[in-house]
Amino acid sequence: DDILLEVKNLKKYFPIRKGFFGKDIQYVKAVDDVSFYIKRGETLGLVGESGCGKSTTGRTLIRLYEPTDGEIIFDGAEIGMMSEKEMLPFRKKMQMIFQDPYASLNTRMTVGDIIGEALDIHKLASGKERTEIIHDLLSKVGLNPDHAIRYPHEFSGGQRQRIGIARALAVRPEFIICDEPISALDVSIQAQVVNMLGDLQQELGLTYLFIAHDLSMVRYISDRVGVMYLGKLVEIADSEELYEKPAHPYTQALLSAIPIPDPDISKTKNRILLEGDVPSPLNPPSGCRFCTRCPHAMKKCSEIEPQMKDIGGGHMAACHLL
Ligand code: SF4
Ligand code: MG
Repeated sequence: DDILLEVKNLKKYFPIRKGFFGKDIQYVKAVDDVSFYIKRGETLGLVGESGCGKSTTGRTLIRLYEPTDGEIIFDGAEIGMMSEKEMLPFRKKMQMIFQDPYASLNTRMTVGDIIGEALDIHKLASGKERTEIIHDLLSKVGLNPDHAIRYPHEFSGGQRQRIGIARALAVRPEFIICDEPISALDVSIQAQVVNMLGDLQQELGLTYLFIAHDLSMVRYISDRVGVMYLGKLVEIADSEELYEKPAHPYTQALLSAIPIPDPDISKTKNRILLEGDVPSPLNPPSGCRFCTRCPHAMKKCSEIEPQMKDIGGGHMAACHLL
């Protein structure tokens, strides 16, 4: 089977109490009925403005958060409702690389121990073998074996992200969620880290979910791309298809905001400006969640929720215009 991971109708609601001493519970519907799959060895990009639920989707599907509802099928096993003990062998197969490498590294541990900790937890290696694996991982991510005895603060942002990547690789995962791994880095370093992730994918046969708000970068590293808005997946397609023929008005607006380097083109390009802010996920608009900002909104948009529809070759979008 060439599908490594599939989520069906995934929901993640966060309960919050109304007012300080209120008894009423409200729910932030951070991820609300999202379905997609990721094939083995591919990169699925997941984009959308901050707060759209893309990080929550990532964290829920590797069970860093408990799903509220829905199925998560990893390598043929339904892991959505597994106990912590049942999850253990799967924990090793799924890792995460975080946006802020510094915040995610224990600053009081040496780089070697940060990487080695994962080996210890899963009892993968000890003694001399452990040291060898750590040195090998450091070389894999372009650092030196002697960096193992140094501390995170001695490294630059790009190097810290490399340490984070080495740590994720330590347990030989099959699937890695890259949660905005380059957005905190200098532009000059971003391409290096992205290229390295691509090389590692080839070498180790990794499958990625690559979360980003920057659509221009995602285009070149993703085989397919999904677009989220306010807890919903609104469009998903092969990367080229999505960028050449975006079907959902929200995707069209996001793409129109990417600056084009050629000054002649930018004169003729129509930038679609979206009015207003993203509504609160506590109280999302009824019908299509994009209806308060959509330039094409019709009466039925606020009444009936559009469902995801295949508009050809696996290109799916949720909009009444289609
Ligand atoms: Fe716009 Fe209506 Fe389509 Fe939603 S369903 S994206 S509001 S046209
Ligand atoms: Mg995020």
